[in-house]
Amino acid sequence: MNVADSERLSRALEKLGYQSTNLADEADIIVLNTCVVRQSAEDKALGRLNSLKPLKSAKPHLIIAVMGCLVGNKGNPALEKRFPWVDAFSAPSDPESILRTVRERHASLFEPISKTGEDDITSLLQEEFGIYTSNQHAVSENLPIVLGCSHACAYCIIPSKRGREISRDPKRIIEEAKTMVARGAKEIVLLGQIVDRYGLDRDDGIHLAELLAMVNDIDGLERIRFLTSHPNYFTDDMIKAVATLPKVMPHIELPIQAGDDEVLKAMRRGYTNAQYRDIIAHIRDLMPDVSIGTDIIVGFPGESEAAFDETYKLLADLKLDVAHLARYSPRPGTYSERFLADDVSADEKMRRFRKLESLQKQVVGEINQRFLGQSVPVLFEERAKGKWRGRSPHNRLVFVESDEILLGQIRDVHIDWAGPWSLLGTLS
Ligand code: SAH
Repeated sequence: MNVADSERLSRALEKLGYQSTNLADEADIIVLNTCVVRQSAEDKALGRLNSLKPLKSAKPHLIIAVMGCLVGNKGNPALEKRFPWVDAFSAPSDPESILRTVRERHASLFEPISKTGEDDITSLLQEEFGIYTSNQHAVSENLPIVLGCSHACAYCIIPSKRGREISRDPKRIIEEAKTMVARGAKEIVLLGQIVDRYGLDRDDGIHLAELLAMVNDIDGLERIRFLTSHPNYFTDDMIKAVATLPKVMPHIELPIQAGDDEVLKAMRRGYTNAQYRDIIAHIRDLMPDVSIGTDIIVGFPGESEAAFDETYKLLADLKLDVAHLARYSPRPGTYSERFLADDVSADEKMRRFRKLESLQKQVVGEINQRFLGQSVPVLFEERAKGKWRGRSPHNRLVFVESDEILLGQIRDVHIDWAGPWSLLGTLS
């Protein structure tokens, strides 16, 4: 979501005449887009921000802006007070104040910003800027379809930073998707904190399954992905959509977060271990060749050794394709931070994390063996370190050495080597 927000802002800045650079020393504007989902992310954002102060002192016209969840959607006077030398602060998905600051502060310095009036900013925001498309002309583009979140999991800070859940207008989404495809995108990733709740807050009857069908009809688009789903909203219509729509890739991100029912209840996730197992079994029944990812938090308040074992057993039994693991981090203002003691030690959280990590490495290592000797269609996204990098339908990273220009192409790849985190192959 942050990548999508950053790309959108960067596109608006290019419209104002700026160019992107990888060198902070060269920049006239530096925007830090921030995440605070865990303390480590917040610390990183604050550290990075502090490191920019000397640049700002050396170059007065430099604009330094902070956006995203460190700011939040209600303004953040404490942050502004702590960093008086920062020029603009803006909410997640809403960088209007950054654009206005840029216009005010740089108007006398640069062409063509000097000609950019109030109306231009407004139209940038309403038209061009409203469009979520990057200027990178990426093969795979992120397209937010649900903004904010209203679920309020006990541990999660996102609802209080990104605001309530809002499904975006399907007409707008399709328009943006078509623009992305016209600019060269081959894959679109539809995003939402709980993406399978898309449309439940609207009355046009277009839910995620219907939206997927609409995106599937876009000529020139090859692949569609979506994340992240919540088990309670992953209906049979969704399973059918993934199984039958040719462009929708067979990969589902369906976080469980914990395996123990008491912990799940305290997390306010809204399902039990057995219900999660049932939905996975049901999905696999209807769609045997599907890849499933999950998220897990270890060390949530009150997670005993026995409770942790439930998570371990679940991962060992279900053999999911990906597990994004995190150690519980109390976030200010969340239910668990306010009312539940952070009673699993840092060392113990690390031990549980490592235990799941090594289990999962073994599980995925085994799953990936079945691709050995097979041919899989890979969409190539990038060339890095002498190899082309792409993804298989199951969202596996695939690396290929080739002198051909493979960017944006889907080619059959014969898999010669399979490890837990990637596959290597040759063009077949
Ligand atoms: N709605 C998105 C949430 C994005 S945050 C989703 O369901 O994927 C991504 C992951 O971060 C969450 O799934 C959760 O596993 C983890 N997370 C969220 N809050 C956390 C916290 N306080 N401590 C540790 N991990 C957390």
